[in-house]
Formats: sequence, C-alpha cells, structure tokens
Amino acid sequence: MTTALQRKLDAHVDALRACARCVNMHKPVVSGGAVVSKVMLVGQAPGTREPVAGKPFAWTAGKTMFGWFEKFCGVDEAQFRARIYMAAVCRCFPGKNATGGDRVPNEVEVQNCSGWLDAELTILKPELVIPVGKLAIRQFMQFEKLDEIIGKKFVAEFRGKKFDLIPLPHPSGASPWHRIEPGKSLLALAMKRICGHPAMRGVKLR
Ligand code: SF4
Repeated sequence: MTTALQRKLDAHVDALRACARCVNMHKPVVSGGAVVSKVMLVGQAPGTREPVAGKPFAWTAGKTMFGWFEKFCGVDEAQFRARIYMAAVCRCFPGKNATGGDRVPNEVEVQNCSGWLDAELTILKPELVIPVGKLAIRQFMQFEKLDEIIGKKFVAEFRGKKFDLIPLPHPSGASPWHRIEPGKSLLALAMKRICGHPAMRGVKLR
C-alpha cells in the first residue's frame, strides 16, 4: 500500500529530478528509489559516473563506502539502497576544475540545493543523519579536523529539525585519512555507532 508519506516523497523526488536552479549544473542525481527511511545519508556531490548510472555513489568511492556498511553492519549495497535515503549537499555534478579534479560546488549552488535537503528532513524526519565528507559534515556542524569528530555521535539541528548525527570521512581514494591511524580506528568506531543506532534496526538484517 502506498502511504501518504511515500506519495509525498515520490512527489519531492520527481520535482528534484527536474530541478534547474543552478546555471552551471545539469541533471540532478537522486536516490535510486524514493526510500522512506529513518536513516539519511548525505553525500557531497556526484562525480562523472553517477549521472550516467542514475544513482549516487555509483563508482569507486561508493564501493568503499558500501564495503564499510557490509563489513560493520551486515548491510550490502542493494539493502543499503533499498532502505536508506541518500541525499547530498549538491545533487548535480559540478564539472571539472581547469587543473583537474571535480569542482567544489560554490556557496550559491550549496544554498540553492539546501532547500531540497531541508524538504527531505521535513518529510522523512530522520532519527539518524550520516554526512559523508567535510563539505557534507559542515552543513550541520563546524570543526577543524576529522580526528575531532569521526567516531562520535552529535545531536544536530538543521533549520529547526533535530536528529542524531554520526559523520563519516569521504571514502574517496583521494584522501588516505580513513586508511591510516588514527583515521582507521576512528572510522571503525563511527561505523559501530551507526550500526548500533536504534534507527538502523529497520535497515539491518543481522
Ligand atoms: S545543484 Fe541542486 S539546486 Fe542546483 S540545479 Fe542541481 S538539484 Fe537544482
């Protein structure tokens, strides 16, 4: 049975798919399905592969991140995509820098796209939000170094909505932070906190 909540989220995702607020952005990448969930993952922005695949975290960073969830929570990629809503700071691929690497979305683009995130937090009222990478984490809290915040749980607020926040480092191969100490141990601690969170009960199979 399709619930009113599901219909609301479906309408939101349809509108998001058609968004063209930013002049230098193209083709929003949205969560594979409109997944009603109490857990929300917030990524940074898609890369070149995601618009082609039509889903977030579709390439190597995704493989690494889904590997963390499989190893620590027993949730594989298919289960994750079916049970956790995937949002992002910016839903469109920002393009490449002249010097190589993906362009970081500018403040106007982040502000434009934050309306979508705000709406998702209003519709879903998640109990747990997992921001992935510095740009995503900074939408909810200020910090200097990942070492200070990874492995910890916070109560965060975004435009009047409160929820638990457990940040993760970006799984991109560009940063070795999560593969060397203390990052490796802090990542394991963060994953244990996520897996043990009550909101994950509806996500985990084991
Ligand atoms: S980045 Fe966000 S606000 Fe800008 S066009 Fe894409 S979906 Fe719309």
